[in-house]
Amino acid sequence: MSELSYEKKTVYERVDPAVIDEAFAYAVDYKKYLDAGKTEREAVKISIEMARSAGYREYRLGEPLKVGDKCYYNNRGKNLYVFSIGSEPIEHGIRITAAHVDAPRIDLKQNPLYEDGGMGFFKTHYYGGIRKYQWVATPLALHGVIVTKDQTVIEVCIGEDESDPVFYINDLLPHLGQEQSKLPLSEGIKGEQLNVLIGSMPEAESKEIKPAILKLLNEKYGICEEDFLSSELCVVPAAKARDVGFDRSLIGAYGHDDRVCAYPILTALFDSNDTEHTKLCILADKEETGSDGPSGMKCDLLTDLIAEIAVQLGGHPAVVRANSKCLSADVSAAYDPNFADVFEKRNTPLLSCGAVFTKFTGSRGKSGTNDASAEYIGWLRSILSRDGVIWQAGELGRVDLGGGGTVAMYISKHNIDTIDLGVPVISMHAPFEVISKVDLYETYRAVKAFYRY
Ligand code: MN
Ligand code: MN
Repeated sequence: MSELSYEKKTVYERVDPAVIDEAFAYAVDYKKYLDAGKTEREAVKISIEMARSAGYREYRLGEPLKVGDKCYYNNRGKNLYVFSIGSEPIEHGIRITAAHVDAPRIDLKQNPLYEDGGMGFFKTHYYGGIRKYQWVATPLALHGVIVTKDQTVIEVCIGEDESDPVFYINDLLPHLGQEQSKLPLSEGIKGEQLNVLIGSMPEAESKEIKPAILKLLNEKYGICEEDFLSSELCVVPAAKARDVGFDRSLIGAYGHDDRVCAYPILTALFDSNDTEHTKLCILADKEETGSDGPSGMKCDLLTDLIAEIAVQLGGHPAVVRANSKCLSADVSAAYDPNFADVFEKRNTPLLSCGAVFTKFTGSRGKSGTNDASAEYIGWLRSILSRDGVIWQAGELGRVDLGGGGTVAMYISKHNIDTIDLGVPVISMHAPFEVISKVDLYETYRAVKAFYRY
């Protein structure tokens, strides 16, 4: 009976201790990647640095390509396509992986600065699906860019260095919070209450705080208030990635979703010895808000780039797409015993049980999703077993309880077999999310097998 039945086991039960050591070692640089890339712009920047040191060069649409080329295409500093041209005929297809590097956060409005009650504030509009109550009374950092009228791009990063100040969103004290406490969790803190505290010292002459802050910003960045109109400034948690637990088996950090998938698809590409397959690794933006716009996965750049590669290597774009395969690498919600009733345990990813393959996402009767074919999953099973990769099937929570989506459907619509693969996460979209180091490493090993076979 035991030989016939399928039983999920943890990575710890199924791999050599040496692999666990490798997983822990792999996590060290992953944490650095997280700390260096808290916004899509920063994640793209650090990923380009990694690509360059792995021998990849910048590519612009229209430039010639040949077998052996290793390139990256930087889309507006927010979205990155890293690819290598293999030796097999291009019409055999491309091995594509995609993860997003944007994460839920709080963006500044275009006219953010004001003062009230002896405090200076920034007005904000949150980005992605945040639970607003989690973002108050915690240290925050400010990241982003300000573009001046003469088109100088000024990079901003305050709150990450130990000597930097941090920022803050006020919460109500329990003594006066009785009415607030009766509200549903989603209404306890409202969108227009997510005002960021940025100072309290008035200017000597006017006795106002706003001109004093403007003076400081002008001294440091050379900007005036109007420059906020052409800025993209993001408020993110100031905390660094840290090991969690006595055994250090877990990592707590902001933005695991989805850099915990971006990092393995990128590093597996750089570590791949395969020279046969053409491989393409995509770091996407705007997934958290629906993948719209020129840096999101709904943009036609994907098909433009595939067409460029196809034509330059002597293939037909439609044939290349038809024979390509994709791993849409995105996180999955791990079973959480503290909230057991939202999960269906048999089909929910368990922490430490390896990489998660999610056949379909969506909601209400599998609507609004890619749905990977049994044939494609069968092929994946065969290649993963060759490398002894530990993986599990996943589904997001109980039927009809909620749902979610990924970029998978924006890739599969181009006639490309696609499946979601990723790492199970605890407290997804919280300012501090938790993942397991062994799940991260099995995801890396899964992607490596995908690029290779
Ligand atoms: Mn995600
Ligand atoms: Mn997400």
